[in-house]
Amino acid sequence: MSGAASLAGGCLCGAIRYEIKTVLHSDHCHCMMCRKASGAAMVSWITVAATAFRWTKAPPAPYLSSPLGERSFCGACGTKLTFRHAELPDELDVTVGSLDDPGRIAPKEHLHGESWVPWVDVDPQIAWRDGHAPASWPDKASSPADLSDGRHEGGCLCGGVRYAVRGMPVKAGICHCGLCREQTGGILVAWGVWPRDRFEAPSGMTARVRTSPIGARRFCPICGSTVFFEFESTGPSGPVEIMLASLDRMEAVVPTFHQFTADAPDWLAFSDSRPRVPGRFT
Ligand SMILES: [Zn+2]
Ligand SMILES: [Zn+2]
Ligand SMILES: [Zn+2]
Repeated sequence: MSGAASLAGGCLCGAIRYEIKTVLHSDHCHCMMCRKASGAAMVSWITVAATAFRWTKAPPAPYLSSPLGERSFCGACGTKLTFRHAELPDELDVTVGSLDDPGRIAPKEHLHGESWVPWVDVDPQIAWRDGHAPASWPDKASSPADLSDGRHEGGCLCGGVRYAVRGMPVKAGICHCGLCREQTGGILVAWGVWPRDRFEAPSGMTARVRTSPIGARRFCPICGSTVFFEFESTGPSGPVEIMLASLDRMEAVVPTFHQFTADAPDWLAFSDSRPRVPGRFT
């Protein structure tokens, strides 16, 4: 973007809004911290000059996700919004998922291939930033660990919320709907459904936000990580839909299809052969 038109965005509940004058660059991040922080399998960011960004309503509270990293999210709805690196005080990263029109900014690089999950087959035509390529890209021969009988632990970025599921999910997919995108701030949200009796209820408090008539999302009120989703129709005793990015070993669960692909930004290219269920949700 050359600066001709500004961009706007904000959180799902509308409490937080921002404006951006110009974008410096944009990328897809595959790092573990972004995944855990968001609940998405991949988080796309735009980097802006700090002076080109402003909150147009009350700003969110910052959260120190590492000694050098400060993230922000809406405390009411859990939408993940920004990242600031202490050594780059003049820049700010903003989640593409929180833009009003994420289709306007196409990321140009992949980052942090060392923690890239091989089933995330997104935009292979885009280069890895120098020094970020994974050893195996684009060879996806590495097969995920078989944890079909195992116990998978997961949780939020700060560790305040921890849970476990047993065995593999009854169903796992990749959702492109606007609600998943905006609430996590990520661009690719993978989920798996486990029956409630194979879910060990989380330690720690979760905040609940009802994002649609279908159900409610649970996120950590301290770090903002979106952890799971509960269906309205079956309530708290029904199946639980886990954000796969919150699992400690996300690569062990491989989604089998894409859903709501009509909602995905036009620039998002998947190279996999999973079935695609089109449609929109938002
Ligand atoms: Zn909000
Ligand atoms: Zn990252
Ligand atoms: Zn947390």
